[in-house]
Amino acid sequence: MMGPAHSLSGAAAWLGVGAAAAAAGYPMPWPVVLVGALVCAGAALAPDLDHKAATISRAFGPLSRGVCEIVDKLSYAVYKATKKQGDPRRSGGHRTLTHTWLWAVLIGAGSSALAVFGGRWAVLSILFIHMVLAIEGLLWRAARGSSSDVLVWLLAATSSWIVGGMLDEPGGGAHWLFTEPGQGYLWLGLPIVLGALVHDIGDALTVSGCPILWPIPLGRKRWYPVGPPKAMRFRAGSWVELKVLMPAFMLAGGVGCAAALGFI
Ligand SMILES: [Zn+2]
Repeated sequence: MMGPAHSLSGAAAWLGVGAAAAAAGYPMPWPVVLVGALVCAGAALAPDLDHKAATISRAFGPLSRGVCEIVDKLSYAVYKATKKQGDPRRSGGHRTLTHTWLWAVLIGAGSSALAVFGGRWAVLSILFIHMVLAIEGLLWRAARGSSSDVLVWLLAATSSWIVGGMLDEPGGGAHWLFTEPGQGYLWLGLPIVLGALVHDIGDALTVSGCPILWPIPLGRKRWYPVGPPKAMRFRAGSWVELKVLMPAFMLAGGVGCAAALGFI
């Protein structure tokens, strides 16, 4: 899928989690619904950090381009080191290491640890990175063009500051789900894990599969391309994505949001 569909599916997924959490007796304070949806929308672009044309690789100037190059090399090295006889030869690292459940769990756990132990600035940094991505993803065309990069960063910085303040209020949501002292913002890794997984599923539907299961081997492959049967796949950016999936994500997100906030 393209950036906007990835982001929308991420936001919708988090709103669905909000609805499920409310049903299970752990309703999210509204800042958690909002911030989680934005973080998840941003995180749903993150796995493409292994591809230099992707939104995330261009979103932070030379810094993200440098990280992208390292991630691509690392992914390729891991692919070569762990491939079995059944896995095809490849020439680059795109859609390998960063498109696995293990990567999703590791960056989610890493973000949670950073948020819990790193204090306010760590939380703000995590929020900032994902706000930039969410803006680029959800307002895709509007945010296009390098001249607007600085505006996107400013908007992301101010909104991170504001929502960070809202979460810090008593009952604002810093302690949602994890209520013990010292567990503030532990939940922040959840939308990050979810976003990455939703991205992988989206890629599995639109391309020739996605090696989500790695490093669990399947037959002669360790990088088994998980996906539906060929006939059910569609091209990235096709009408199915634009006219069926994206409106469906919006509708699902709206219903999920209403349920998460207790309106339905
Ligand atoms: Zn991808």
